Amino acid sequence: MNFLRNKILLSVLFVVLVVIVPSFIFSIYQYNTITDEEMVIDEVYNNQLESILFSINQYSVDVTDTWIKEINEIYSSDNQLNLNNLEDLLNQNDVLKQFNIYSYDHPENPVVEISKLEKANEIGRIILDFINNNPQKINELIEFLESDYQKVLGEKTDLFQDLTYLVFALKMDTLQSIGVLTIDTKQFISETLSPKIQHIGEERMNILVFKNNNSEIVYSNSVSVNTVESVQKSKELWLIPGYSVGIHLTGNTLNDLVRKRVRTVIFLVILFNLLIIFGTWFLYYNVKKEMELAKIKSDFVSNVSHELRTPLAMISMYSETLMMDRVKDDQKKKEYYEVIQLETNRLNGIVNNILNFSRIENNKRSYSFNSCSINEAVNEVIHVYKHELRNKGFTYDLILSEDLPKIKIDKDAVKDAIINLISNSIKYSENNKHIGIITNTEGKYQFIEIKDKGVGINEKEQKHIFEKFYRVREGDLAYKAQGSGLGLSIVKHIVDAHNGRIIANSKPNGGSSFKLLFPSIT
Ligand code: ADP
Repeated sequence: MNFLRNKILLSVLFVVLVVIVPSFIFSIYQYNTITDEEMVIDEVYNNQLESILFSINQYSVDVTDTWIKEINEIYSSDNQLNLNNLEDLLNQNDVLKQFNIYSYDHPENPVVEISKLEKANEIGRIILDFINNNPQKINELIEFLESDYQKVLGEKTDLFQDLTYLVFALKMDTLQSIGVLTIDTKQFISETLSPKIQHIGEERMNILVFKNNNSEIVYSNSVSVNTVESVQKSKELWLIPGYSVGIHLTGNTLNDLVRKRVRTVIFLVILFNLLIIFGTWFLYYNVKKEMELAKIKSDFVSNVSHELRTPLAMISMYSETLMMDRVKDDQKKKEYYEVIQLETNRLNGIVNNILNFSRIENNKRSYSFNSCSINEAVNEVIHVYKHELRNKGFTYDLILSEDLPKIKIDKDAVKDAIINLISNSIKYSENNKHIGIITNTEGKYQFIEIKDKGVGINEKEQKHIFEKFYRVREGDLAYKAQGSGLGLSIVKHIVDAHNGRIIANSKPNGGSSFKLLFPSIT
């Protein structure tokens, strides 16, 4: 058995080394590359979103630049500021509400102030405050312009929350000036930026502009998105302080797709590993079964040989003695003949069992059911076995119910079953040699019960005793008793063929009882 276990362990070790370990390494590798890939894709995806948001911001700068360029052109074509043309610029662009120019050196009074708003003066004052309070920012704008870069600052005040001031440097003649375009914030977003947003977004994504402080959506290219929570990426608008532009992808986002793919792959990898583990277990189980079967078969051959040898030796010894005429006493002679008869019966029983078993295995065992009393089957067996019982020192009780109607049974098969049970009771009884044979009815069944006071069977073994070739090896007697392990499996086959049931009750050293129940079909 140790050899067998070592062999199985070796096979399992082989499978673990050759299949499971590499597959686990592969799975871990696969998992790691997936997370790497996911990070790369995530980065690419984020970059793309960033560039979309960048292009919207860039567009707002481009629009402002066009206005400033127009202002510059108005100035340079007339060589002086033509207020009418500036007014035209404001009138043509609804979003532009006011335009102021301040001289850098003396900003106290605006050089130009064109306004479509009633609160023009107040706005002018606010702008002046800004210029006075932020000399560094203003200087920066002028320095940038000197290096030919038109920078624009977007500013807001709490007083007029719906307005934004676009502050920039202007070069008028040789004078350095500061231009301020006052725009309507919401109009700028929903009229000036919206065509660009719609163009970029198309059907693929929702782009929305919202206030940073309260997440109020000021503009969205789709009515379906009404909360900023679903936004995947957002950036502050460069020119409009306090506002951001965000993107929400319609349908599955790339992240979702990647996550889904990762999940599928991980699921498949786990499934793959589970399948391998299951396969290995299955292989192990089958190899173990095969090996056990091989062992059982070889045990069976040696068991049967042993079982045959004893009666043959007895028959040969007693017949030889008789033949040589060594026994003079008639009584003794009779005894010897009886032994020969008993051993022949035993041989017959063994061969019968083997033949029956082989028929069962080849699906060739057939039964012929006839109306018969189970008592008749019991009586016929007892008639043959009573001598053996007596010779082996057994007493027995025969308690047969008298009013049992005949039922449909295969009498010979039932007799085989009873013989097997009685010979087991004989084999497995040691000191208390008593057998009880009872017949009666139980519900819709008639039963034959064979009871003994023998060595019994422990609970663990009881589950297996009806398996073919199974033999109990525990306990002195069970170990010594000869047998092939076929008897109870044949009994079970016979009872099953009758649609009956077997109830086995046994306790170690407390005897056993086998109850065969047959349906009462007449
Ligand atoms: P075997 O040829 O070994 O008797 P069986 O199939 O008839 O094979 O029985 C299987 C096992 O069940 C036996 O090895 C024996 O240990 C146990 N067994 C069967 N009948 C009895 C019994 N009446 N008392 C104790 N053990 C029994």
